[in-house]
Amino acid sequence: MKGIRICPLSSGSSGNCILIQAADCTVLVDCGITGKSAQTELVRAGVDPNSIDGIIVTHEHIDHISGVGILCRRFNIPVYATLGTWKAMIDGLGKINPMLIRYIAAEVPFSINGATFHPFSTSHDAAESIGLKFTDGEKSGAVATDMGTVSKHIYDLLSDCSIMLIEANHDENMLIRGPYPAKLKERILSDHGHLSNKLCGALCAKLVREGSLRKIMLGHLSSDNNTPRMAYETVTNSINATGFTVDTDIELYVAERYCMGEELTDK
Ligand SMILES: [Zn+2]
Ligand SMILES: [Zn+2]
Repeated sequence: MKGIRICPLSSGSSGNCILIQAADCTVLVDCGITGKSAQTELVRAGVDPNSIDGIIVTHEHIDHISGVGILCRRFNIPVYATLGTWKAMIDGLGKINPMLIRYIAAEVPFSINGATFHPFSTSHDAAESIGLKFTDGEKSGAVATDMGTVSKHIYDLLSDCSIMLIEANHDENMLIRGPYPAKLKERILSDHGHLSNKLCGALCAKLVREGSLRKIMLGHLSSDNNTPRMAYETVTNSINATGFTVDTDIELYVAERYCMGEELTDK
């Protein structure tokens, strides 16, 4: 394949599974949906499950791993994760062939079939969570969800990405006024939780204005504390304030659960 592609097979608090293609490499970032759903969505995305080169797991939360074991066993797919994530998730995956276990570490790039992946640490409340930048050698993209906050280092790393799936988890007011227990609200709003629409908008605006970002997919929306429309409008307003305009200069989409059909490519 020429260029790079990000296709969310499913995104949101209830299950995340993102297809990435770059050079001759096809991987899934997380599989927090059932094996059956993942297979169905892969076929819809035009990808044979037998051609998957790896599943890269960002962290052990159930919305990211529930289908990992099944897919790994069914199609003999290597699973990549940090040591901390492996320790935290291994009991939940079922039996995994040791030959398919791959260890990765934040800030240590690794290659699969011509694509290079650069994992970076995120401040999410998991054992050793990562986000992922990838490149085919020419174009770069990233999957950046479950972020908590965005450090200068992460910002610098993402600045040359042209396409990105990025977290717009919640609307702050909706979360604060909503039904969640105080402790959970605190966690989500903290630097170890999730990026709000507003923080996402600020990051997108900066990456558009100062970086290379041109195509954006908002993801990991909370079904209780956000709506696709609120996420889209908040981020649009932030971007439009930069002098770049959504639709004219910037492609902006919202990924929903089993949203198939919308994807980002840069060729
Ligand atoms: Zn998480
Ligand atoms: Zn998550």
